[in-house]
Amino acid sequence: MVLLILAACSGTGKGAVGARLRARNPALRLSVSHTTRAPRPGERDGVEYHFVDRPAFERAIEADGFLEWAEYAGNLYGTARATVDAARAAGHDLLFDVEVQGAANLKRAEPAAVSIFLLPPTWVELERRLRGRGTEDAARIQRRLATGRRELDAAPSFDYVVVNDVLDVAVAEVEGIYRSAGLRTPERVHVVDALRREAAAALRPGAEVAATAERAT
Ligand code: ADP
Ligand code: 5GP
Repeated sequence: MVLLILAACSGTGKGAVGARLRARNPALRLSVSHTTRAPRPGERDGVEYHFVDRPAFERAIEADGFLEWAEYAGNLYGTARATVDAARAAGHDLLFDVEVQGAANLKRAEPAAVSIFLLPPTWVELERRLRGRGTEDAARIQRRLATGRRELDAAPSFDYVVVNDVLDVAVAEVEGIYRSAGLRTPERVHVVDALRREAAAALRPGAEVAATAERAT
């Protein structure tokens, strides 16, 4: 099971990169977070987020229901333990779209997770994308940019840094990291085991004779 953490300053393109990556890799599912933020037009409860009110979120914190949670731009966001447990039971991979503090906390909780910091090509372009998305007013955009400046400090502690300039290139680079993560030894032990079973079976008395006879026909 691959746990892929994608973090970035808001507006960089985590959502866009993640959506394309998931469309190309059905085994990779979005870890649907809980949030107290209001849904944006088109966002559906249970798809982009589980939208909850603050008291419900705080009750879940009290009950130790979150693997990690953070306050971001005045709202609470968190990854439910149950989300990761269910993915582990089902055997699919998870993509986490989280802010920087959440990424660090996830990595602490799940050390095998692979973390990627996505960068915009320039700060001017980041501002342009945030304005162009049209989901926040000017004051909220400034707040997200100020948070983003601080978040940049954490980039060197991530496993990978990818620049989202041309979207298709960024998706290909993140996909390369995801595919490589799936080839790490713990993910491939079953392949080794299968070959070892075959090799052991080939040692059974008569197996060599049978193989020679087969080659002769
Ligand atoms: P995040 O999830 O990091 O906040 P989004 O995925 O919502 O960012 O992207 C912010 C805006 O930038 C969106 O309008 C998106 O369509 C646009 N965008 C994302 N990646 C690129 C790119 N490589 N080139 C141009 N625009 C992009
Ligand atoms: P947005 O309001 O733009 O959807 O998200 C704001 C920020 O919260 C983004 O950086 C997003 O990645 C982050 N975020 C979303 N879900 C979670 C979560 O479960 N935990 C943490 N720590 N951050 C999250």
